[in-house]
Amino acid sequence: MARANAAYYATHDPFADFTTAPEIAQMFGEIIGAWAAIVWQQMGAPPHIVLAEAGPGRGTLMQDALRLIARAAPAFRTALRVHFIETSPRLRGEQAARVPHAVWHDDLDDLPAAPTILIANEFLDALPIRQFVRADSGWTERLVADGRFVHVQAPDLSREAPAGAVVEISDAIAGWTARLARRVAALGGAALILDYGTAHTAPGDSLQALRGGEPADPLADPGSADLTAHVDFSAVATAARAAGAASWGPIPQGAFLTRLGLRERTERLIAANPARREELRRAAERLASPARMGLLFKALCLTQQAALPPPGFEP
Ligand code: SAH
Repeated sequence: MARANAAYYATHDPFADFTTAPEIAQMFGEIIGAWAAIVWQQMGAPPHIVLAEAGPGRGTLMQDALRLIARAAPAFRTALRVHFIETSPRLRGEQAARVPHAVWHDDLDDLPAAPTILIANEFLDALPIRQFVRADSGWTERLVADGRFVHVQAPDLSREAPAGAVVEISDAIAGWTARLARRVAALGGAALILDYGTAHTAPGDSLQALRGGEPADPLADPGSADLTAHVDFSAVATAARAAGAASWGPIPQGAFLTRLGLRERTERLIAANPARREELRRAAERLASPARMGLLFKALCLTQQAALPPPGFEP
């Protein structure tokens, strides 16, 4: 899955196959920019701060965030330096067109050792998972061999499940989250993770492939389709806490955006651009309504301190 996705992102325009929240409406990146500005104030407004994004795609989220920050929080704009974690040379090019002064890295561990506010939108869903299937005799792991799935005996998962149940475990997500949490705990700052997935570990086969915008066989023609799985947010929170950070949420994306003023921001944009009224209202509804992206997508936050809830995560 990791190799297929690396090939896919290096050679394809993923946005021909799927769309993401920042590509739906400028309000999404703007609200995250406002969120980051409040976090920076909560940190005591340090004079230098890394504003990092993992898997920035086209760079749209950061472009929208920076425009809002420059206007609403100019002192934060002066203090921050943008760092992108991106492995695809092709997408780095797109990002440079929108955020030319960013600094690029291949990996989280390459970020400078400084207080960091990190954003990751639809990044974790692209990291590889392992799938375990309950057989009568015990757990098996589903692996790929010669272009098809095979099942091999797996260690006992110490979980009850009916025969045929599928459990997904991502060592890659747990490992990445642990490294992120150690950084936040040691250096200060916060991380905002947004993605689609479940609040609790739920059995089910969520591996999916999109090719040309259509669901496809994940094993056919590796590197030609976007492979993703639902994120298990309880596993993310557990990995973060074990590594020493405080973990907040997950809360539904709709609740997060609404608490941070999605409706008010949308109405302001409409007042300035009355001709875009219907388009902007439809976009806000797509981002936040429970039937669209509002419930399936969730927000989780990691912070250094457990005392002060980050914006949007107040009890
Ligand atoms: N955040 C963007 C893009 C999501 S697509 C948006 O919301 O529109 C996933 C992004 O993560 C792409 O930029 C992809 O190139 C990047 N990516 C995927 N796997 C990665 C990895 N292992 N390391 C760094 N970047 C990765």
